[in-house]
Amino acid sequence: MMKFTFNIPMEHPVKTIGLIGGMSWESTVSYYQAINRGVNQQLGGLHSAKLCLYSVDFEEIQLLQHQDKWADTAEILSHAAQSTVAGGADAVLICTNTMHKVADEVASAVNVPLLHIADATGAAIKKAGYSSIGLLGTRFTMEQDFYKQRLQDEYGLEVLTPSEDDRTRVHDVIYNKLCQGIVEPGDRETYLAIMDKMSEQGAQGIILGCTEIALLVKPEHTAIPLFDTVAIHAQAAVDFALS
Ligand code: GLU
Repeated sequence: MMKFTFNIPMEHPVKTIGLIGGMSWESTVSYYQAINRGVNQQLGGLHSAKLCLYSVDFEEIQLLQHQDKWADTAEILSHAAQSTVAGGADAVLICTNTMHKVADEVASAVNVPLLHIADATGAAIKKAGYSSIGLLGTRFTMEQDFYKQRLQDEYGLEVLTPSEDDRTRVHDVIYNKLCQGIVEPGDRETYLAIMDKMSEQGAQGIILGCTEIALLVKPEHTAIPLFDTVAIHAQAAVDFALS
């Protein structure tokens, strides 16, 4: 693949970030904004991020998820990752927590780094000095090992999740509302009540471990420290782009 080089004097050569988005597109918008803002904050002027976005059809992905056909999702995302690399990406981000279930397959499909959302999040929590953390996300993220285990093993964190009923509530709001752009105060109250329970059980903060949750719950809604995985993952992309 040919890399275009222009004779524009640049005191800050910026790397290109490949985004695998569309899961859902509502949160990919947040990524796009956060990474561009982050680069502009560092470089000023009219600087913006160099991004190559491959956005999937989330209906296809969510059907495969709920049919437990993860190998098929891995194929789709691997092709997406390769497409961003062909478009010039120097690193790849999967713009969803849940789809990190197939992060290893996607990472091995490309010859550039995959910036893992759980690594960025684990590092941010450790930096804040917390050891016990609550996790909100899809059922896949809250119940399976691919995410929690990484936080436990690599970052020494105790990860608390809501009760079965509450996990269902959180999961349903994500797919039936947030991923469709529906943000309702009643759902916020539901989430805040679940977060309060985790805090009472010892969680020192809460991971917004689904990329749409920050559209619903923001720091001004609670005194509990929040770890917004979009903001954290986007910052990792900005740091890489400017490194
Ligand atoms: N964006 C969500 C996440 O971060 C859920 C959508 C998906 O299943 O990818 O997990």
